[in-house]
Order: sequence, then C-alpha cells, then structure tokens
Amino acid sequence: MAKDLPPTFTDPPRPEAAQTLLALLHAQGEVARLSEREQLYSSLLDSVNAVLWAFDWETRQVLYVSPAYERLFGRPASLVLADYNEWRDAIYPDDLEYAERSLAQVLVKGTVEDREYRILNGAGEVRWVSDKCYINQQREGDQRVIIVGIAEDITEKKQLEGELHRLATTDVLTQSSNRRHFFECAQQAFDNARIHGTPLAFLLLDIDDFKLINDSYGHQEGDQVLQRIADSGKAVLRRGDQFGRIGGEEFAAVFPGCTAQMAEQIAERLQREIQCLSFSHGQQTYGVTVSQGLTGLTDEDETLDSLFARADAAMYRAKRQGKNQIVKG
Ligand code: GH3
Ligand code: MG
Ligand code: MG
Repeated sequence: MAKDLPPTFTDPPRPEAAQTLLALLHAQGEVARLSEREQLYSSLLDSVNAVLWAFDWETRQVLYVSPAYERLFGRPASLVLADYNEWRDAIYPDDLEYAERSLAQVLVKGTVEDREYRILNGAGEVRWVSDKCYINQQREGDQRVIIVGIAEDITEKKQLEGELHRLATTDVLTQSSNRRHFFECAQQAFDNARIHGTPLAFLLLDIDDFKLINDSYGHQEGDQVLQRIADSGKAVLRRGDQFGRIGGEEFAAVFPGCTAQMAEQIAERLQREIQCLSFSHGQQTYGVTVSQGLTGLTDEDETLDSLFARADAAMYRAKRQGKNQIVKG
C-alpha cells in the first residue's frame, strides 16, 4: 500500500539524487569562481603595461602574447601567433643577432633578465624594450621547452640614461669630451694600440695668451673663443679620433692608428684653421693662436701617462720657443 502514496517530506532522502544535485551546485559554484578568476586574470593582463608571452622553443611557435603586445609593438597579435618571423621582423636590424642570442641563453641559464634591444613598431618608430625570459616549469613527462617572458617599453628610461651619460661625459661649455671621459677613451685607445701593436699619437693644445683675451674682452668673450676652438678641433679630427677639453684652455687629442708624422698633418691643419678664426669685440677684431705638443707611442711607453708627459713637455717647448707652433716630442 505504501508504494502508492505520493512522496512527502517525510520520505527518506534519495542519496544518489541529492549527491548529483550537490555536485551540480558545487560545479556551478566552481564554474562561477573559475569564470570570475578568468575575468580577473584577463583584466589584469589587459591593464598590465607589459607583454607576457610564451614560446615553444622546438617548434618556434609563439603560443601566447598578452593584449599589451599590440600596444607596444603596434602590430596585430594574430600575425605573431601565426608566424614567429613577425617578432624577428619587428626587431631593429642591428639588434636582431643579440636578441636571438640572448633568447637562446635562457636554455643554459634558465633565466635571462638583462635583455634589452630595440624594435621598430608598426608606425616605424624605434622603441627600446626590456624582454626578460625564463624557462617554464615543465610538467612531468612533458618534453617541450616552453620559454615565457615579459617585455616592457623602456624607451623613456633609455633616453634618460643617454642624457645622463651625455651630461657625465661632456664639457658643458664646448660640448666636447670632458677631462675624465677623454682620459677614459684615451686609455682604451692606448691599451688597444699596445695589444695590437698599432701606432697611436697623442696631442696637447693650449691657447696662447688666453688670459689676455679674458682680461681685454671679458670672460664671456673668452668662453666664445673656447667654443670656436673646440669646434675647429671637432671639424678637423677624423672619426675614431678622441678630442676633449682637459683643462681651462687646454685641449687634447688621441689618434688611433696614426704615427706622430701622420698626426702632424692633422695638427697643422688645426693650427691653420685656428689661425684663420676671426673674433670681434665691439669695433675690434682679433685672432688667436695655439701651441701644440705632439708625440707618438713607442715600445718604451708602458703607461698613457708617459705619452701624456712627453706631449706636455713638447707643448711647453712650443711655448718657450715663441708659441703659435707645433713641437714633436
Ligand atoms: P700661455 O700662452 O702661456 O698659455 O698663457 P695663458 O694666458 O693662455 O695661460 P694662463 O695659464 O696664464 O691663463 C689661462 C687662463 O684661462 C686663466 C683662466 O682665467 C682662463 N680660463 C680657464 N678656464 C676658463 C673658462 O672656462 N672660461 C674663460 N673665459 N677663461 C678660462
Ligand atoms: Mg694652460
Ligand atoms: Mg694658455
């Protein structure tokens, strides 16, 4: 008889149905949580101003790029996902070899964090990118080598660094190398010449009677003379030569690959160029001359200082001998 009665709340629970219902509710909750989490990840990836990426090393396939890719590279993500060469094509040609080499290093090191190179974005602008990369944790049994990375635009930082470097190495008045930077470059040139057994010439230049110019026409006028002489130096020197202002009215130059004889022609040209400069102060016009001391690297020169001392002595001989001349030492 009992089997004909409709089910009531007093009926014993049916365990399978309840469990199914519970499992369903649980799954729905799980789905909602997952979807919430996915939305969170997705909005995080979207708002982060860096490109997260994943790359399959064996197949050379870009597996993933985050939304910032299109903002940074200015190129459609679909293209790079379809063909890895799209990434290579975006790299500034001079930096391509480095970018690929440093990517391969991650296989050995596991992490490469000091990776910086230039790209050409979709608008053809050069942007600096920091592109750190890591070997992804592999799941057991998975033979694939997946590299993941994070690429950020560091163009502003690079520009600032460049400006700081320029300020630290340049003489403010003449825009030529300052003393410290000149001697750093001169030391490098000296070391190279000694290692490779190549010639090297060293020149010192001091303005004649410069104090008189300051005293007669004022300090500002003196500053202009310094600027014009620095311009002459820069104009006469060849690419690869080093030129700097190493003191108040003293300049120096280093000529890699040049014997003192060869450098003498450059010094003579500079001497003539400076003799031709004309300055005017009110109604007056005047010119300036310089004294130069020149020397070349010998087998006995163990330090840059010994070259410098010889050029200095030659320059002072030029002063003693009546100024406005070049003396070789
Ligand atoms: P000499 O022919 O023997 O080299 O004599 P000089 O007058 O050129 O040399 P001296 O060393 O007696 O004077 C150098 C002067 O250079 C003195 C200093 O006031 C001036 N001076 C140094 N730095 C600057 C600068 O930045 N601007 C100007 N206008 N003058 C400077
Ligand atoms: Mg002097
Ligand atoms: Mg002088």
